[in-house]
Formats: sequence, C-alpha cells, structure tokens
Amino acid sequence: MTSQTTIGPPRFRAFGRKHIDRLPWLEQLSHEQMIALKAVSAVLPFRVNEYVLDELIDWSDIPSDPIYQLVFPQVGMLARGDFDRMVDLVTSGADEEAIVRAARTIQQGMNPHPSGQQELNVPSLDGEPIAGCQHKYRETVLFFPARGQTCHAYCTYCFRWAQFVGVDKLRFSSHDVETLATYLAGRPEVSDVLFTGGDPMIMSSKVLRRYVESFLTPELAHIRSIRIGTKALAYWPYRFTTDRDADDLLRLFEDVRRRGRQIALMAHFSHPRELETREVREAMRRIRDTGAVVRCQAPLIRRVNDSGDVWASMWSEQVRLGAVPYYMFVERDTGPKHYFEVPLARALKIFSRALSQVSGLARTVRGPSMSATPGKVLVDGVTVIGDERVFVLKFIQGRDPEWTNRVFFARFDAAATWLDQLEPAFGEREFFFDPEIRAMYDGRWRPEWADDEDDEEMTA
Ligand SMILES: *Cc1c(COP(=O)(O)O)cnc(C)c1O
Ligand code: SF4
Repeated sequence: MTSQTTIGPPRFRAFGRKHIDRLPWLEQLSHEQMIALKAVSAVLPFRVNEYVLDELIDWSDIPSDPIYQLVFPQVGMLARGDFDRMVDLVTSGADEEAIVRAARTIQQGMNPHPSGQQELNVPSLDGEPIAGCQHKYRETVLFFPARGQTCHAYCTYCFRWAQFVGVDKLRFSSHDVETLATYLAGRPEVSDVLFTGGDPMIMSSKVLRRYVESFLTPELAHIRSIRIGTKALAYWPYRFTTDRDADDLLRLFEDVRRRGRQIALMAHFSHPRELETREVREAMRRIRDTGAVVRCQAPLIRRVNDSGDVWASMWSEQVRLGAVPYYMFVERDTGPKHYFEVPLARALKIFSRALSQVSGLARTVRGPSMSATPGKVLVDGVTVIGDERVFVLKFIQGRDPEWTNRVFFARFDAAATWLDQLEPAFGEREFFFDPEIRAMYDGRWRPEWADDEDDEEMTA
C-alpha cells in the first residue's frame, strides 16, 4: 500500500476499514487514535482514496483539518457508551461477526431512514411502484441507477450512510430504466431527470451512456435537462481528465448537448480546498468545454465548513472556475447529526456573512435550505413582527407546486436545527401545509399532479 511508483495516470483504488493498518498516511496517529478509528468505522461508513489522502487532507492539522473531518469517522460521532462498547470489541480481538452485530444495533439507533421520505416519493406505473426513483416535485424525477450506489470516498455526514454500511439494502436503486422511461412518457410536466446515488460518476462511461440515452428519445422530448449529482470533482477529478474512459464521458456530455438537451453536473463541494488542486481545475475546464453546466451545492457542517468566510471563498472560487453556486443545505436528521449540526439561526448568520462578501455572480446560491417532508424550505431571515421574534421561512420547492415561493413564519428558536422543531408564530396551532402533509401520510391526499389518469377514472 505504498504510493504508486508506476508512471502514468493515477488508478482509482478505494481504501476502507480493512486497510486501516496498512495506510502509511495513518502512521502518525497514536495507538488510541487508531483504535478509535477502527471502532467508529465499524459503525459509520469509511472510504477514502489516494487523491483525498495526498491532495486534500492537511496532515499537519489533524484531527481538526476539515477534510479529515469530512472523510474520517471521529470519536464524537458515537454516543459514549456505544463508542466504549465498540472499542472493547475491537481491542479484545472479537470476531468480525460480533463486531458487525454490535454495529447493527448502534446503527439502528441512529435514525437510518430519516422521515421515511423515500417511501412517500416513489412513483408508480399501472399500480406498481417503480424501483430506483423518487418523484417529489412536479418537474424533477430522481433516478438511482443500481450501479451508481457507491462513491469515490464517503462523507462522514452523508445522509445515505445507512446504505453504505448495509443497514439499507440499496432499496432505491434501479436496474430497470425502461419502466421509468414509460412513466416519464406519460408525464409531460417533467423536464428534469436527476441521476443520483451514491455517485453516478462511479459508473463507467459506457454504462452511464446507456442510462442517459434512454432519456434522449423522441417520446421524452420534454426531458430538457439531464442532471448528475456528483462529488467526483472533489474526490476523484481524474474521472474527467486521465481515467481510461474520461474522454468517452466528455463525448457523452457533448452528445447530449448536440441532441438539444442540457447537461448539468450538480457538483458537491464541501470546502474551498476541494477547488484548489490542479486536477480539479483541469476537470472543470474540460467539463465546461463540452457545454455542460456545473452547479455547486453542499450542506453546512460543523467542523467542516461552518464559517461565512469558508463559504464566501468557496463560492468565489466556483465563479472563477465558471461554475454556478446553487444551494447551501441544512444537514438532515440522521447518523451522527449531533456531531455536525448547526442551529438554523447560526446557519442563517453564516450564509448572510458569506453572501455579503461576494459579488452578484455568486449570489445565485440559495440557503440555508432544508429538504424537509413538505418541500425545500429556506430560512430566509429573522425579524420581529408585532412583539414576536420570528423566522421568515420560504418554500423554494413544495410538494404542492402552489406552495412555491410562499412565505411563512415560525417562532424564533436559537437552538432549533430542523423544521420539525419549529412552532408556528403568532400563536397559530399549525403551519398552513400541516393538514395536507397529515392527509398524505394517511393516504388521503397527494398533489394534483401526482394523480394517475387511471386513478382519476376509478374515483370519478
Ligand atoms: C432538491 C430536489 C430536487 C431538485 O430541486 P431543484 O430545486 O430543482 O434543484 C428534486 N427532487 C428532490 C427530492 C429534491 O430534494
Ligand atoms: S459523495 Fe454524496 S452520496 Fe457519497 S458519501 Fe458524500 S454525500 Fe454521500
């Protein structure tokens, strides 16, 4: 596991928990730190590669280095008792089966399926749910190709962590793109298909092309944009430069454009350092040369990027490289959330401070935004109305399109970290969308656009 001495382009190799003892980068860790890493990585996902280790992490500043925090599981991510239990197992030479069993119990207690949203958003065709997709907002369908369900490295804060540790058995992935294409043919209001994962860029260019081309047919002329959610630019930029099929990938992007559709990379960048290497800049240039657009988004994470200056420099650098700042997300309620979470009030301060330092070209970004059950909800401000201090909240996307751009108010709460911890302002009993959301859980309501024609006939 020494550094590659071969001449030629870097070859992707992923390192995980079983490689911990053999990674030369970790030789500077103390015995206790190594034990802790082994204990926590049995519970939470851990995957890293040479680019992240060599080019992104500042080893003179661990453990507080933001990229180290981003990819290496940390002691504080587990509750004290759980951590001690895992350390006991790891140091007593327990067999792997016992370690996995203990890890499973701990994982189940970490809200592996936040808000059950996935179940609510699965569309169906002829009464059959379509595997591997979600349709929550009228215009955009999410597609989870089965072979794109891993990443070049894992983020410790990932809200899909449960799938990477095997608690969640890739329930949302799809081998079958035909069914989705048939569904979309009957949905002219859908303009975007968003490939997501994992990281779809983990797939070979050949497999990706087969999937993408399924959406370029004349029957699906209304699909204007193919979006690909990816962190490959940050974790493995060689995917776009020197990898064996990098050129094929760029050719695919060009072909999509030539066929009159837009290709957008929804790039996940957590920290400005990820934009500083020669490799990522070259990758960005090559992608832009194909006519594809790069839009950037990330969650706000304590210890990784919880500073206005960090976001300001990240957005400025994105603009300089020709990319478009898009979303700052609030971290979801799952996994080691207590370790990472930033209260909404503080998130708003960080966002505002960052926004005040950049030009209008970077102010395309929106946030802090919660992807909550009723929709994407923006924390737009804090103000006083009458004599009540309130959060000004706003729907960026609503499950019901009527909610889009609608403003509503919640009582100010300096500690709240998510929408479900907020109370309506002005003594109101509930938020305006609560009755519909309740009805949706009972199966009594869904937005008009989500009704099948078949269903309408049946209920007419
Ligand atoms: C964010 C999101 C989208 C895309 O929303 P845009 O605002 O159009 O980028 C689509 N589906 C789901 C479930 C989402 O969370
Ligand atoms: S790249 Fe995305 S899907 Fe992969 S671990 Fe990070 S947040 Fe999760």
